Amino acid sequence: MLGFGILRGLLITAKNFVGSYHDPSRLTTIQYPEERARLPENYRNFPFLVYEDEAGACEGLRCVACRMCELECPPRCIAIEVARSAEGKPLKRPAVFNVDVSVCMGCGICVEVCPFDSIKMDHQFEIASTGGAGAFLLGLGQLAKPNSYYHQIRPVEAAAVDEKRRQRRERAGAAVASAAD
Ligand code: SF4
Ligand code: SF4
Repeated sequence: MLGFGILRGLLITAKNFVGSYHDPSRLTTIQYPEERARLPENYRNFPFLVYEDEAGACEGLRCVACRMCELECPPRCIAIEVARSAEGKPLKRPAVFNVDVSVCMGCGICVEVCPFDSIKMDHQFEIASTGGAGAFLLGLGQLAKPNSYYHQIRPVEAAAVDEKRRQRRERAGAAVASAAD
């Protein structure tokens, strides 16, 4: 019928217009900072370092200080110093791990090259500071975060990493057992 299509279109427009004021899932703005939107899992800002909750921030740090991320970071904003024993022997952990987030461009290349799933991209974006340039040089104290935090911000990715690490441990265990036979 002539005009029915126009009428139907107007009704849909009116329904959407009214709905946009009453349906919370369709509101495009929120009352930030009182309200916060949940960020998409793949959102990335600056890197952080993952440690195992049970072992703690020092012993449980996954990073073995291989320095791959430091070498591959395009703007060279990662600086690592390898920890050493009393005898000067290099240990598989960093003594210093700094990221200058005033230089970091959030590319995620450090994450891609890390063979140990130690470094991941954070969702933290409220880092404004009046503390000068030094405030943007993040050290181990600020960078190290538990695996439970990683699961909180990136649940799908963190679960896949846990599974990959479990399989790797199983393969390593099987290799040791077969070598002992
Ligand atoms: S996200 Fe990119 S720029 Fe930032 S530390 Fe990693 S590799 Fe470097
Ligand atoms: S974060 Fe990964 S790539 Fe970087 S030093 Fe640690 S283990 Fe190596």
